[in-house]
Amino acid sequence: MMFEKNRIITIANQKGGVGKTTTAINLATALAAIGERVLIVDLDPQGNASTGLGIDRRDRKLSSYDLLIGSNTIGETVVATAVPNLDIVPSTMDLLGFEMEAASLPNRAFRLKSALSSEQARTYSYILLDCPPSFNLLTMNAMAAAHSVLVPLQCEFFALEGLSQLLDTVNQVRQTVNPTLDIQGIVLTMFDARNNLAQQVVNDVRTHLGEKVYHTLIPRNVRVSEAPSHGKPAILYDLKCAGSQAYLQLASEVIQRERLRKAA
Ligand code: ADP
Ligand code: MG
Repeated sequence: MMFEKNRIITIANQKGGVGKTTTAINLATALAAIGERVLIVDLDPQGNASTGLGIDRRDRKLSSYDLLIGSNTIGETVVATAVPNLDIVPSTMDLLGFEMEAASLPNRAFRLKSALSSEQARTYSYILLDCPPSFNLLTMNAMAAAHSVLVPLQCEFFALEGLSQLLDTVNQVRQTVNPTLDIQGIVLTMFDARNNLAQQVVNDVRTHLGEKVYHTLIPRNVRVSEAPSHGKPAILYDLKCAGSQAYLQLASEVIQRERLRKAA
């Protein structure tokens, strides 16, 4: 049998508030529920993924900062979540200092890549990287470490513009730190069927990007937005709500595409 490599997916969009963290948390939970072993690395100093998964700040002794600096391994920085099969390397405000401190470190764009090339990292079948909403050294590390980029795109007027910026960035990354970086897919988030513009955005994005766009549409759903304040993924907070069901559907699409990709 061929050696099964893990899949490292960075969840990126330079815009804030488009559903990156929500997608990281709920896609990871859904993949874990299907039986995959999943790790989230929280790379946003805001730490929303860590908080949304119920990791108290007091329990974040070590963080993704320590991983990036290279003072600790995955095994040392990882924290188990309430979701079976789902671990997280949490973030702390320490990350804010990374850019400055990395100036004196060698291979500063490849710190995460080397941390994720360990044996421990290979025990996870999926590693999702939750990025901050900017293109900085943290995002660069994520793009260098990942096999692919998953782009959450909010169904709003400027969506296509933001997307073309991001695709330009991916091309730059390919020319510099990661020649084989793939587009995992584009997921449309916070879709509101009552909004005519939203449907227009969906059509436009599908016309321009075709098969790269997931069939699953993540609806705007109040239960999804309530869940983080309870420290739970939406899928645990309210499995039946439309948002949770959509994320489960997205996870099966992701897995299906992985099967096709591996077979190709
Ligand atoms: P990002 O990580 O890109 O900044 P978030 O995932 O934090 O974006 O989402 C931004 C805000 O929108 C959060 O308050 C989140 O709870 C809310 N949100 C995200 N997805 C949905 C959704 N499908 N329905 C309703 N609210 C959502
Ligand atoms: Mg976020």
